Amino acid sequence: MIHTLSIPTPFMVGRVNCYLIEDEPLTLVDTGPNSGKALDELERALAEHGRRIEDLERIVITHQHIDHLGLVDILARRSGAEVCALDLLAPVIENFAAAAEHDDELAEALMLRHGIPRDVVTALRSVSRSFRAWGGSTAVTRPLADGSALEFAGRMLAVLHRPGHSPSDTLFWDRERGSVLGGDHLIAHISSNPLISRPLGGKSGEPGSGRPRALLTYMRSLRETREMELEVVLPGHGEPVTDHVTLIDDRFALHDRRARKIGGLIEERPRSAYEIAQALWGNVAVTQAYLTLCEVLGHVDLLLEDGRVAEREAGGVVRFEAAG
Ligand SMILES: [Zn+2]
Repeated sequence: MIHTLSIPTPFMVGRVNCYLIEDEPLTLVDTGPNSGKALDELERALAEHGRRIEDLERIVITHQHIDHLGLVDILARRSGAEVCALDLLAPVIENFAAAAEHDDELAEALMLRHGIPRDVVTALRSVSRSFRAWGGSTAVTRPLADGSALEFAGRMLAVLHRPGHSPSDTLFWDRERGSVLGGDHLIAHISSNPLISRPLGGKSGEPGSGRPRALLTYMRSLRETREMELEVVLPGHGEPVTDHVTLIDDRFALHDRRARKIGGLIEERPRSAYEIAQALWGNVAVTQAYLTLCEVLGHVDLLLEDGRVAEREAGGVVRFEAAG
């Protein structure tokens, strides 16, 4: 039996789904953000199933975002539970602040290179710093290799690295039941943003290997998931996904439409990613500068791959222009 525990977050995405696996060991998948309100609601949600934090024996983390791992330290200390995560994710969980700082450095360089004004970049950096308090760090007592298995008395979960939404996205697949704990890999009501973060190795690419192509990575992962026979995906936000193939096909169609739209803007005249984001979303390109930049760059990567646009740098700022 797997129970959904819906935990509040201070973020735009709304509540996060944590999952209580009633098995041996008693397992919590994802923790919610590091806030008193999240902790309070988590305790109440556990109590509804006759459980306390102290009863937890295993904590599993699906990926590196703060709404999924913020409480990990408090929960691990109070329960003594083992902490399981993809081996590539372990260093991030063990020093969350340092990992976040590295990601912010990458984000800052990317934003400046793609035409976002310095004052916007500076403002966003301080917002990001203030968000870090919702994160948390703890020792990962059980690092999991891609392709390995996490065993329980009554089930076995295959560990699958499917990066794209984040470099550490991990699926936990119950092949026998056809169910998968998906984190934010596939969400029914929103298209997961492939946020550009520092690669962590493996399928997410090597750290320092140039600009990460998050959307390409994500689409490769989605293609792998599309091939799986699944009854249900239990997502990190929103309702269970019961038809993953249709949803993934919808996502591919959406990315294709967006890429064509952006291709059209570039054909009109060379533009920076920031100019493209402004043309598409107006002021949101300022308030959500990094999110929209990642969105634009992801689709530009599709066009670059097809040889339809080219990248030209002048004075430290990149503009995209029609190729051929
Ligand atoms: Zn996420």
